[in-house]
Amino acid sequence: MKSKEEIKQILCEAVDRREEDVFNFYESVYAEPEYGYKEVKTSAKFRAFLDSLNVKHKDGLAITGVRADFAGRNHDFRVALMGELDAIAVPSHKDADPATGAVHACGHAAQLSSMVAAAAALADTGIMSELDGDIAILATPAEEFIEIEFRNQLIESGKVDFVCGKAQMIKDGVFDDIDASIMQHTSICNDDYVAGATSNNNGFVGKLIKYTGKPAHAGAAPWDGINALNAAMIGLMAINMQRETFKDEDHIRIHPILTKGGDIVNTVPADVRIESYVRGSNPRAILDASEKMDRSLKAGADAIGAKVDIKTLPGDFPCVQCEDLNQLMYENLKTLVGDGASLFCAGFGGGSSDQGDVSAMIPSIQSYFTGATGGLHQAEYRMVDRRNAILNAAKAMLMLAVDLLYDGAKTGKEIKKNFKPVMTKEQYLREWGHIEA
Ligand SMILES: [Zn+2]
Ligand SMILES: [Zn+2]
Repeated sequence: MKSKEEIKQILCEAVDRREEDVFNFYESVYAEPEYGYKEVKTSAKFRAFLDSLNVKHKDGLAITGVRADFAGRNHDFRVALMGELDAIAVPSHKDADPATGAVHACGHAAQLSSMVAAAAALADTGIMSELDGDIAILATPAEEFIEIEFRNQLIESGKVDFVCGKAQMIKDGVFDDIDASIMQHTSICNDDYVAGATSNNNGFVGKLIKYTGKPAHAGAAPWDGINALNAAMIGLMAINMQRETFKDEDHIRIHPILTKGGDIVNTVPADVRIESYVRGSNPRAILDASEKMDRSLKAGADAIGAKVDIKTLPGDFPCVQCEDLNQLMYENLKTLVGDGASLFCAGFGGGSSDQGDVSAMIPSIQSYFTGATGGLHQAEYRMVDRRNAILNAAKAMLMLAVDLLYDGAKTGKEIKKNFKPVMTKEQYLREWGHIEA
């Protein structure tokens, strides 16, 4: 029987041996960015890589998601390693798809590459015969909560129930047999850390808002119209008036965008659309701020005599990192990057991830690996250190999985025993999955 450290070493060396294949995969995924629930080519590339390893996989999970299971000596404990398939919209980025504006400026191409690196290392070494549990490699769709109109159509036509991929996978039972989940995300190179276990971050609800007025000639007879744009502007102003009521510890952030301001300039605007998030650190604060936003939007409609329809969609659940997994990850990071390891690399995060939804019911971690410059979701985003962002990330995830599954999976089982879920899957689907305005 090999020691835990020997197994980790074997896997890390196997990752390094696949460097060229993994970087080629990265280039290919980066070159063809796709938005959530549309990651058809990306998903096909991921499946092709698994096929090249002779690894079986389940496809079509939440439309484009893929899962490959590696069986250990027994099956009492199962760890998921996850990477995301989708790109973000930054049309001004030099590598953005000219047709769609999509680009991998959030590091998901690197995440997915670390998944193929991990799968290759497991397949090449046959090391699962030394471990007391299984590893599931998961490619998850639609992490970015964007194109809300399009995804709402998918929901209304019954193709999915959730805007985000992991929420859909939770509903579809993909996580039912998972005992711990491990994610990582690319972060921006900085002076403080090279790689870090991390802290918690915000969740949110999303909103689709439609103001309906009455069209009329804007010059000849504006008094015959009802100006939906004016109603929307009062609504947006009223939201800003609420900001002094938000408590610092709740980290509330409301950031609406006006996606349609009218049809033609010489007609009184009668169809005006807004999209927004309401973010916060806990569901109570999010729902409280969401109600204040709804009141504000209705005030705008009342003032002008317009009509407002508000659709509130569950977004990402607030992310709660498992402290035990954080600590174990930190120990592995010290081996990998020495003094560049950090236990709490980012403080409380104002952003959000659908990994939060998984973290509410399963011990979970999302750690950070630097490797990019220029800022996430920005036109200046560039990947400059693939070795850290992809290879070290894959190694760290595998090392943590080994910690959990070694010697009867006793560490994994201990962590699971001590874990207190924020909510069960049933509660989650009932209370978070069906928020109605
Ligand atoms: Zn992002
Ligand atoms: Zn991201």
